[in-house]
Amino acid sequence: MKTDVFIGGGGIGGLTLALKLAQRGVQVILAERMAAKAPTYKGELLQPKSMQVFDELGVFEQICNRSNEIKVLDMLELSSSLQVKDQSFMDYNVLPGKYNAAYMMHHEELKSVILNAACEYDNFKYLKGTACKGYGYKTAVLQKGTEKFEVEAEFFFGAEGRSSVTRKAMDVEVKQTTYNHHFLTVTFPRAKDFTDGKIISTYNRFLGLFPLPDDQVRSVYLIPPGDYKQLKEKPISHFHKLYTDLAPIVDGYVQQLSDWKKIQLMIPVMYHANSYVKGNKAIIGDACHAVHPMAGEGMNMAIQDADILGELAADMFEQKKMHASNLKWYENVRYKRADHVIQLSHLAALAYSFPFKPVSYIRQRTFERMEEDPILHFKQMLNVSGLGMWKENVRDRFIQGGIMPVRMKELPKDRKELKYYTPEDDYPWKTEGLK
Ligand SMILES: Cc1cc2nc3c(=O)[nH]c(=O)nc-3n(C[C@H](O)[C@H](O)[C@H](O)COP(=O)(O)OP(=O)(O)OC[C@H]3O[C@@H](n4cnc5c(N)ncnc54)[C@H](O)[C@@H]3O)c2cc1C
Repeated sequence: MKTDVFIGGGGIGGLTLALKLAQRGVQVILAERMAAKAPTYKGELLQPKSMQVFDELGVFEQICNRSNEIKVLDMLELSSSLQVKDQSFMDYNVLPGKYNAAYMMHHEELKSVILNAACEYDNFKYLKGTACKGYGYKTAVLQKGTEKFEVEAEFFFGAEGRSSVTRKAMDVEVKQTTYNHHFLTVTFPRAKDFTDGKIISTYNRFLGLFPLPDDQVRSVYLIPPGDYKQLKEKPISHFHKLYTDLAPIVDGYVQQLSDWKKIQLMIPVMYHANSYVKGNKAIIGDACHAVHPMAGEGMNMAIQDADILGELAADMFEQKKMHASNLKWYENVRYKRADHVIQLSHLAALAYSFPFKPVSYIRQRTFERMEEDPILHFKQMLNVSGLGMWKENVRDRFIQGGIMPVRMKELPKDRKELKYYTPEDDYPWKTEGLK
């Protein structure tokens, strides 16, 4: 078989990349090793920049119609006696423009929306149940059942997630950081009017609740590493109580989980490959970076990688400027953005990692100040949204720490919008030129 672009892996990243290329008339073959839907929970929170990407791909409405819109994340800090001690908000409304909300959508359903959109193009070929085993000279070596075959292509893009064969073939290493906690994660029914996200913590406990459509809610509950096995030996009522203690809103709903079967263990990791591109190969998504799930960014980084690499590769084919060194534009745009998001997610993880009262006090104070200071609030939401990047400076840190007073003045809309990435920031080769 012969194609313009071969993509290994049909997760969110690989599918978004395939759709983007297919829409621009590039011949694409994508191999996905799974023949059926994945049984594990994965990312479900779509940030504003990902919604902008999907808008440009023509699937925004479909996604909105099948998601639960989240405007506000409610952060509750409880006392030892489980009374609300402090409440602050992360509010997407501070972001001007059309993309000022996050959306929760079932992961497999999002994949099927993107796959169906890509399948409308004759130049897209989807090889289900087909694993990429490695690479030959200018070919990808594939296996379906016992049958082995090769695909010849101009470019090979690896979107195979954490254990990427393309990354291995590129000889790019990743050094994994682990955390001092794991998570239980499960989806269960919720009350109809429970639609905003909630992060509920005490000095030594953490529960995240993210409402999905169809009156369901995805949850993550922090546990010490190694506790999963012992927990599963306890009656399921023990699990119910862990949740209802912290979130009375799930009482009467979480009990609909009648055993431990659906409750999965999620082990957070962090890594960042030192390079995304080598020769005519590139990697996207979890193949090149993994982030702690606290900030809900993993899937969004894959989508945003796919947007930049897809636009670049499509321009290369359109302009017949096929020199592989052009692929470096993708890395130039995405690396620093991804690095910033990795650091943000890491900091958010650390804020909940240490079960000590002084840490809980500092966390509560920091969130309070972030909400009170309009510039800090905007910076936080902008960085999380992916629409732009505005790093915190020393003054911001002093305000968060209570050393300096909060600023009361709102930022005007046009000043906020100046911080958004422009098309020139996203696709700089369009003005600077390809080789
Ligand atoms: C268990 C788990 C739970 C997670 N939970 C959350 C969460 O709660 N919140 C959050 O924000 N993020 C979460 N994430 C992260 C988020 O889901 C990922 O960042 C996101 O899915 C990355 O997308 P991707 O397309 O890069 O990779 P993936 O979604 O991992 O997709 C990779 C695809 O490639 C396929 N594949 C692998 N190897 C091959 C091969 N050799 N040949 C062909 N196909 C191959 C796989 O079957 C898979 O379909 C989770 C990740 C994992 C692994």
